[in-house]
Amino acid sequence: MENLELEGINKILDKKNITVLGIETSCDETAVSMVSLENGKGKILANKIISQIDEHSPFGGVVPEIASRSHIEYLDALVDEALLDANKKLTEIDGIAVTTGPGLVGGLIVGLTYAKGLSISTGLPLISINHLEGHALTPMLTDNIEFPYILLLISGGHSQLLIVEELGKYSQLGTTLDDAVGEAFDKGAKFMGLGYPGGPELEKLALKGDEDYFDLPKPLFGQNNCNFSFSGLKTALIRLSRTLEPVDKKTMQNMAASYQKAIVDCLIDRTKKSIEVVKDNRPDLSIKNLVASGGVAANKKITHELNNLALENDMNFSSPPIELCTDNAAMIAWAGCLRMSKGFLNSLDVSAKARWPLEEVRTE
Ligand code: AMP
Ligand code: MG
Repeated sequence: MENLELEGINKILDKKNITVLGIETSCDETAVSMVSLENGKGKILANKIISQIDEHSPFGGVVPEIASRSHIEYLDALVDEALLDANKKLTEIDGIAVTTGPGLVGGLIVGLTYAKGLSISTGLPLISINHLEGHALTPMLTDNIEFPYILLLISGGHSQLLIVEELGKYSQLGTTLDDAVGEAFDKGAKFMGLGYPGGPELEKLALKGDEDYFDLPKPLFGQNNCNFSFSGLKTALIRLSRTLEPVDKKTMQNMAASYQKAIVDCLIDRTKKSIEVVKDNRPDLSIKNLVASGGVAANKKITHELNNLALENDMNFSSPPIELCTDNAAMIAWAGCLRMSKGFLNSLDVSAKARWPLEEVRTE
């Protein structure tokens, strides 16, 4: 990633107010948002999103080619709508932030090419944003959380525990060895014949079941690291249901509840371990905040138990509201505001990256 010393950089750094347009096309949501940074605080001026769930659900998962084509179809109109909602002209904004990775490369290219075109035609600077950095910085926008904090990033494509130390300084404590936690929810739900995306459906069904009815495995539970693993749990669910066939309604509810409990127990155990690791290895940070972000953080059982864990450790817990937990462009525009306020801009030769770990994000 290249950063550019633009001529007007000092003008930007002197500004008390920065307004950035954000574009997000890394997966199955086309999203455009406008966010301003005023005296250190963020304000969402517009937040538009078109979810492609209906287009992908017949296939039980995201089809990359369909996603790219839909982004092309919706993006331009969403930018117009965001400008209208924010009551701003392009001449009144300061920069264009766009997700350049990680994600489905076809979708990323659609958003990035559009952002480059807009940058060339308006002269506005471009800010390349790592999608995970967007998730990582959202709690500052929604809850005024200050650095440093421990972040549990749980989404359809990622499961990570990180220390968010400052802008551009992220250390990974643990990650998944196989499936992401959102995938575990989605695949489990698909197997049970629930709709896509499966997480919310599985949570609903689990509410009616007995979570202690089946004893499912909890991979890596109690181990001396902060990693996750979910694929063995998914296989155990499939095996269990084969032994129970035909599966009646009550059994299905008990299976959903027991499966969700196994996932949540793993998440809590691994997060607990990460708090211990940080206390032992980075006492200098004296971290007081635990934060969950990503679509799976919409799960009420997960946030309830994370809140308890934080209380036990004399920490505060926070999680962005659901619409800002799942993929959105406000988090991209916000990350753009923070980067721009420090003078971190990008040249037009920045490219889309399917893989881009958060630890490799730089600010220099
Ligand atoms: P994201 O990748 O951040 O857009 O989030 C989408 C993922 O979050 C999908 O895997 C969903 O199944 C999952 N998800 C959304 N809501 C819930 C929920 N209430 N419980 C569990 N998973 C959820
Ligand atoms: Mg998504």
